[in-house]
Amino acid sequence: MTTSEIMTLLQARGFRFTHSLGQNFLVDEDILEEIVERAAVSGRNVLEIGAGAGCLTQALARRAKRVLAIEIDEKLMPVLETVLGPCKNVRCVQGDALKLDLEALTRDAFDGEAFDVVANLPYYITTPVLFRLLEGELPLERICVMLQKEAVARVTARPGVKEYGPLAIQCAYRADIETIVHAAPHCFVPQPHVESEVIALDLRPYPVQVEEKAFMRLVKSCFLMRRKTLVNNLMAYGLARNEAEDAVRACSLPPSVRAEALDLDQFLSLFCKISLQGDSTEEEKGK
Ligand code: SAM
Repeated sequence: MTTSEIMTLLQARGFRFTHSLGQNFLVDEDILEEIVERAAVSGRNVLEIGAGAGCLTQALARRAKRVLAIEIDEKLMPVLETVLGPCKNVRCVQGDALKLDLEALTRDAFDGEAFDVVANLPYYITTPVLFRLLEGELPLERICVMLQKEAVARVTARPGVKEYGPLAIQCAYRADIETIVHAAPHCFVPQPHVESEVIALDLRPYPVQVEEKAFMRLVKSCFLMRRKTLVNNLMAYGLARNEAEDAVRACSLPPSVRAEALDLDQFLSLFCKISLQGDSTEEEKGK
């Protein structure tokens, strides 16, 4: 179906867009085609989060091996059934992408094979969804997501800017990031107030490997009180003042430094120093 046929179908069913669910449907056929092309989904398994009325889903289904599409709004399920009926390689699941067991669902849908995520993400879950995808044990290779520009800024931020924080650090640790498609507000129904972009995160191991969950716990703690010094945040994390000061000094950082000034490598080195301190304290106790 064309996107204008899909919009007519929605209208005929009396569908009303829910702003709080981030329902801005992408209807520009050229942009949809460009996303599918740039996401390079040919022959690949694809998880789509927030299928909406299926405009992107059907474009993905034309090239992908299999598509698993998740949508929270049950009013859209009959629409998805009609739109995606002819696409035999698509499975739709109704539910909240933040709560569903993504590991089990994708293992079942893709027979345990690796997959990519391609989605026009609802803006209000951008951060938790990206954390969920990156922190989990999913066999993911690529994530291509349409985000509002302010969210792109948070993903790609570098030290020293206000958008910089745990999300940018998590993404930089797990992936190379590239902007692949721009979309103006008029490409959507209803139109959002801001520009959007599709970014591609190509997952790869970072040269320095650490225990990721513990590392991200430290990073998140360091940003809990953004205006406070790193030493203060490390104390809130559980270190004694002298331990926090030693760790900061051992990384050749000034005592008044704040978390927002540290790049990924500096955070990794801080994490390693603190882990070593912990090990030697344990050894001391054992003597
Ligand atoms: N993929 C469609 C498109 O490109 O036109 C729709 C994208 S729209 C920006 C986001 C979709 O995500 C909406 O259909 C919304 O109902 C759905 N959604 C919102 N929160 C969700 C959640 N927690 N889990 C799954 N889907 C969600």
